[in-house]
Parts: sequence; structure tokens; C-alpha cells
Amino acid sequence: MIQKERLTEQFFEFVKIGSESGNEKDMGERLVKECRALGLEVVTDNAGASYGSNGFNVLAYLPGTMEGEPFLLSAHMDTVKPGNGIVPFIKDGVIMSGEDTILGGDDKSGICGILEAVRSILEDGTPHRAAEILFSIGEEGGMKGAKAFDVSLLKSRRGYIFDSSGDVGKVIIGAPGQSKVSADVIGKRAHAGLAPETGISAIQVMAKAIAKMNLLRIDEETTCNIGEIHSEFATNIVPDRCHMFAEVRSRNLDKLNAQVAHMEQCLREACKEAGAELQFDPYTNYVSYRVDPESETVKTVLEAFGRMGLEPLVAMGGGGSDANIYNQKGIESVVLGTGMTKVHTTEETITVENLHRTAVLAEELLTH
Ligand SMILES: [Zn+2]
Repeated sequence: MIQKERLTEQFFEFVKIGSESGNEKDMGERLVKECRALGLEVVTDNAGASYGSNGFNVLAYLPGTMEGEPFLLSAHMDTVKPGNGIVPFIKDGVIMSGEDTILGGDDKSGICGILEAVRSILEDGTPHRAAEILFSIGEEGGMKGAKAFDVSLLKSRRGYIFDSSGDVGKVIIGAPGQSKVSADVIGKRAHAGLAPETGISAIQVMAKAIAKMNLLRIDEETTCNIGEIHSEFATNIVPDRCHMFAEVRSRNLDKLNAQVAHMEQCLREACKEAGAELQFDPYTNYVSYRVDPESETVKTVLEAFGRMGLEPLVAMGGGGSDANIYNQKGIESVVLGTGMTKVHTTEETITVENLHRTAVLAEELLTH
């Protein structure tokens, strides 16, 4: 049986282990120990080393005692900042932290829910499916751990990612993809006082290009934002370089690509007019996904909600998560609400009830 007290205790222990993105080593080691104590076979990788983190992904295998394809249960072990020295406490059934840190329920609620479910099943000898349990690093700030993870280690063709705000009962079946756009306008340097007419101001060219761009809300499924403009010269120099960094998000890949092309066109035209050069470097950060609401993946989770007496909420997500990466790598994945609220702020909370339901949901998925 899921034991609320034991679960809450483990949650407290885990949030106290600082694991800001890039520094997940201690948490990873703790998770390896925990999985081994449950009798699971554990594999770790070198994912962190590829981008300067001391952490590693932790994959554990739960052999099944029931028929059925294995599936993936996943949560990420890293947190945003400030995530060190977290002091959790409970007030009226709500778990929160001191004012100077996040709580870290994102995503340790998911981790603890999955582990308590496995513990409960193994203790009670409940018949269960085979599962692959993946605790990833570097989710915050670009899903770097999931990107570096070797999915050929997995047999699962579908996955449940316990990593969303919203009460247990919420399932996210799609999310936008994101491209990043880096662009540099190269003009011509000149003395701004003696001969400015011989120069080409990269700042001016960039400004003209941006003035023509459609930005921010493009349509109901596409957004675009410039986050960085950089050029720094003495005022007596006509600047020959100006850098821009932007993002485009869309649930529709064609629209995403069209927006990137539109930005390039605005820049090219402005450069051509002024005789400047353009370096344009877009790259795909992650692609969008949409899981069919009629698929086994979604039906299975809706049935679990039904058995738990929960009001289901099928939603589209607004940001990227490990699910974008797993879907891209061929594992049909949805994201589940664990009840975390105000994530990425020092006001983050989760109720003991939602923490408990997260574990019950994981158990329901594993035992049906
Ligand atoms: Zn998260």
C-alpha cells in the first residue's frame, strides 16, 4: 500500500538534496542507492559530461509479473535555482519551503511518486507490468539530459512523464516545439565624426529589420520573441556588428519554420538595402508533439483517473519538457500533473494529498 507518511518523509529528504541543473551528482547517487535497495537493476550514463554537468541519468528496470509491453515512467531530478538549502515544512496539509528557496517539488514530486508506487507494489507482491524508470538530469533549461540519453537502452514505446503543475488528473498530450534564432548583421566600420557616410551601421540595419518583423503572438499556436540584442562600440565608431538572439515556438512545425523564414527575410532585405552582410543561424531546440487522445497511451491514463475517481483534464502544454524529446525519439509520451504549484518560484507548494495521489496514479498505471 502507498504509505503517505513514508512518501512525505522521502519527499522531504529528497528536496533537501540540492540538485540545481548541472549539479545533480548527489541526487543521482542517492537515486541509484534507492533503486538498488528496491532490488531494481540500475544503469547510469555519462550524459552530464557532454555539457558540463556533474550529473547522470538514472535508468532502473522493474521486471513485470504481468503480461504487457513495458512502459516508461519518468521524472527529472534537477531543479531551477535557488535550490540549495531547501527547508521544507507542512502547514495545513500543504508542503512549502522557506522564502529564500524553491521547494523542488518540480520534479521531486514525480520521483517520489514513482518510487513509492514501486515500493508499495513490491512489498505487497501486487501483479504489475514491466517498467523502465528514468530519472533525468538537466531538464530545466533545455532537456539536456533527455537529449543526451541513449533511448536504444529502452524497450518502452510509450511513456508517462510525471512533471506538470495542475492537480493529479491532468494529462498533457501535446506541446509546442521551439527554434532558436541567432543572427548577426555585419556592416562597415567608420569614424562616426569624420566620415560616417562611408560606414554601414549594423545597429541601424538590425533596427530596420526588426521594425518589419511580426513578433510576440503570431497566432493561437505560434509565438516569437527577441531576448537579446548586442552591439557595443564607442559612440565615435559606426558599429559594424550587431547580434540578435530570439526564439520561436509553435505547436505546428510548418508555422514555426515559416516564422523563422520570415525573420530571415526581414534581415536579408534590410542588409541588402544597406549593403550589409548577414549571418543567420537558426537551430531546433526541440520539436512539437501531439499524442492522439484516442491512443492507448492516453486511454490507459484516463482509465487510471477513472478508477481513482478523479476529474480528468486533457490539456495542451505551453512549454517544452522531456516529453518533447522522448516523443521526438520515438517514445509516445504524455506529461502528468503531480499537483505542484507556482513552480520555479520561492512560493512553490504541493499538497500532501497530491503527492499521495501521484504515487497512487503511478501504482494504478503499473498494476493494470
Ligand atoms: Zn519540471
